Amino acid sequence: METNALDVELDEELQAMRHAVRTFVRKELEPWAREIDRQGEIPEELFDVMQKNGYCGMRLPTEYGGAGLGLFQYCIALEEFSRLHRAFTIAANYSSGMTPMAISRHGTAMQKEKYLRGFAAGKLKSGFALTEPEGGSDPAGMRTRAERRGEGWVLNGRKHFISGGHVADVIMVMAITDAEKRARGGITAFLVERGTPGFAVTRVDTTIATDAIKLAELTFEDCYLPPEAVVGEVGQGFKVAMRSLNDGRMSVSCSCVGAAESLLEMAIEHVKVRKTFGKLLAERQAIQWMLADSAMDIAAARALAYDTLRRIQAGKDIGSAGSMCKLFCSEMVGRVVDRAVQIHGGMGVIRGFPVERFYRDVRHYRVGEGASEIQRIVIARDLLRGVKITD
Ligand SMILES: Cc1cc2nc3c(=O)[nH]c(=O)nc-3n(C[C@H](O)[C@H](O)[C@H](O)COP(=O)(O)OP(=O)(O)OC[C@H]3O[C@@H](n4cnc5c(N)ncnc54)[C@H](O)[C@@H]3O)c2cc1C
Repeated sequence: METNALDVELDEELQAMRHAVRTFVRKELEPWAREIDRQGEIPEELFDVMQKNGYCGMRLPTEYGGAGLGLFQYCIALEEFSRLHRAFTIAANYSSGMTPMAISRHGTAMQKEKYLRGFAAGKLKSGFALTEPEGGSDPAGMRTRAERRGEGWVLNGRKHFISGGHVADVIMVMAITDAEKRARGGITAFLVERGTPGFAVTRVDTTIATDAIKLAELTFEDCYLPPEAVVGEVGQGFKVAMRSLNDGRMSVSCSCVGAAESLLEMAIEHVKVRKTFGKLLAERQAIQWMLADSAMDIAAARALAYDTLRRIQAGKDIGSAGSMCKLFCSEMVGRVVDRAVQIHGGMGVIRGFPVERFYRDVRHYRVGEGASEIQRIVIARDLLRGVKITD
């Protein structure tokens, strides 16, 4: 059953994209969702399935084996993936997320040849390392530094909360290269490969979410990097990271919409079969209001996200609209999942039921890629400067 609370119009290309991904999810991914929960990991074989069906390197240029999709198309794919299981969006980001796109945008021909082909072939996974203990919401407060040694660099420091850092083959690490300039020209992006001497994964954390989502602590001790490890220009790493995070916010927004849509469907199915006091829950006004509120929330979130993606697609400067989307969509799915759990009663909190897993999985969205408070700060800053946020 599809609720389609508001069928926000998509052009033919995007409709075809949604249809193709939805079919792939139903035919191929459903058994993998169970396997992911059973193993508490994203199985390696899943990447073969994704690759064979064209879902590795979705956003990468076709000349490197990618599918050449735009951000809007990619977000539609993530929306469909997240209807089933959040882990599929993580798997997609390994080959099409922030680091692959940063290499695609700012990398040298050699970096593209080496890494993009590997991502598109499903052979390489990426990580993105900005956050560290002294630099979370305020990444410019980072302490990880890279100092010149001959032609190359020596990296020292520690990053934490890095999604998939324990399995990534190559990680884009942001480090201070000019302590005076910091975010204004003093941070550089480096590619660090797994196995590089001086680089170690020093802790792996599981979280409130499904076990397959793991966050790693990465430690760098006199880790030598050749000059070819720099992504973009020396000193421009903060801009590289922020550009990547802009895309990340839209990916998160659509992932939230997909999860919320799935939750509403589950709630509707449940109220049509569950009777209390001799009547179906569907007949109770208190329950109907929760369904209506969720449908309205989803419709508003989707409209905001698609409108912003359309403006990005048209090459417009969206200012802080990405922050608005990420904030609204991540808080929206929090409300929708809470109602879905409530509607399911005791079943809603039993381990192993999908609603319960979604409840834990979506909580991350209000923290990762800039917490809600930080998005509000960004939006308010634009408002106070007189920047127009929406058309
Ligand atoms: C699931 C998940 C995946 C992640 N993956 C990655 C990754 O792959 N790579 C990476 O680099 N990082 C990653 N992160 C880290 C994430 O970006 C940070 O957790 C986030 O930016 C918040 O930083 P912090 O945890 O240090 O919290 P803090 O900065 O300590 O903030 C704590 C709280 O205070 C609030 N706050 C902070 N400053 C202000 C202020 N000025 N005014 C009001 N409130 C404020 C915040 O909004 C937050 O609610 C991930 C995090 C999660 C949860």
